[in-house]
Amino acid sequence: MKIEADIVVAGTGPVGLMSALSLGRAGFRVALAGPPANLADRRTTALMKPSLDFLDELGLLDALRTDAAPLKVMRIADATQRLLRSPVVTFRASEIGEDYFGLNIPNRRLLAALDEAVSASKSVERAETTVSRWNIDADNIEAALADGRTVSARLAVAADGRMSPAREAAGIAVSAGSTGQSALVLDFAHARPHNDTSTEFHTEDGPFTLVPLSGQRSSLVWVTRPHRAEELVRLSDDELSLIVEERMQSMLGRVTVEPGRQVFPLSSALPRRFAANRVALVGEAAHIFPPIGAQGLNLGIRDVESLLDTVMRHSGDPGSPAALSAYDRSRRPDILARSSAVNMLNRSLLSDMLPVQLMRTAGLSLLGAAPPLRALFMREGLRTGSGFGSVFRV
Ligand SMILES: Cc1cc2nc3c(=O)[nH]c(=O)nc-3n(C[C@H](O)[C@H](O)[C@H](O)COP(=O)(O)OP(=O)(O)OC[C@H]3O[C@@H](n4cnc5c(N)ncnc54)[C@H](O)[C@@H]3O)c2cc1C
Repeated sequence: MKIEADIVVAGTGPVGLMSALSLGRAGFRVALAGPPANLADRRTTALMKPSLDFLDELGLLDALRTDAAPLKVMRIADATQRLLRSPVVTFRASEIGEDYFGLNIPNRRLLAALDEAVSASKSVERAETTVSRWNIDADNIEAALADGRTVSARLAVAADGRMSPAREAAGIAVSAGSTGQSALVLDFAHARPHNDTSTEFHTEDGPFTLVPLSGQRSSLVWVTRPHRAEELVRLSDDELSLIVEERMQSMLGRVTVEPGRQVFPLSSALPRRFAANRVALVGEAAHIFPPIGAQGLNLGIRDVESLLDTVMRHSGDPGSPAALSAYDRSRRPDILARSSAVNMLNRSLLSDMLPVQLMRTAGLSLLGAAPPLRALFMREGLRTGSGFGSVFRV
């Protein structure tokens, strides 16, 4: 059986579901292929205000607010044992006139809400199966599905994650590698309130990040060496609670780790192009870097917004070379800037070289001491181009 669509989306992570929903709402006939949404994902995602505006446009934000916690203060603390250490840098949303930077939302809640909205959409045909092969020609792209059906479309949106078979079929080369780190993810209850504050402790193995959840609970993303993550994940809840509490210097009082932990091997990857041969890359198919400063999905949502804007302007043939070049040009500066900043910060944590330490410490000290620079940095973190971009624009 053949499904005729304008656009086929491959991948049912958050970015694929958002792509299908928003393209369907814009009037395109969309086919979405991928396995059932992964409701076993224990992570939480800190989504900044512009990403929340996007979810609001999709009609999902009000339902998500009930399980979400606001991020009003973000802190970076140098917890390395190195000779050169930077002071704690604190970013307050109130400093730039915002009530909060964003919301921390459990992934399974986000995925469930998106999945439900996709199922209710009349413009999206959902195929609960993977794409097993792609055939691309000058005017069309065809996805052969694992259940024997095929989808024919003008454009394929590759939201099929880090290995992205669609990216490979389009012949887009990638520079990729492991960062030699894994992230241990868990939730915990604590005796003292978090006061809507997220703290990123920088250590020699990567960041140890606490993000508020609703109530007196937080989520932890502990980036460390893979063998250490494997040791930690095998500890009992009591043993792990003690280690987590010690690591954060009892900042939130007694810690009680909740059941259910996951380990994510980390890598970084950057494709040479963000679209070619009727395929446009979004989300982790377009950029992978370690979880520092809550950037990944926020960047993925900007991919979806840009793609939407591009295909609306090329609605006659959304997969044409002109449309794909426009999308590639629109995403390049943002993706390159975010990927290199996060990778550089991560490498500066892992490196023992004194000049690298000096640069990291000097940068953070400057941010801590200079409120106008801090405000620019916060605005840029919230909305690309509204911080540093606005200073350099004429
Ligand atoms: C520990 C951790 C914490 C993070 N925290 C944050 C945060 O606080 N804020 C933030 O902005 N970002 C965060 N991120 C990044 C964020 O999680 C990712 O950017 C996001 O999950 C990427 O979503 P995606 O939909 O692109 O990819 P994925 O979620 O990987 O989805 C890819 C999908 O493609 C499907 N697929 C694969 N092959 C095929 C095929 N052949 N056919 C069809 N489907 C296929 C897969 O089954 C899957 O459904 C974090 C990442 C990690 C690891």
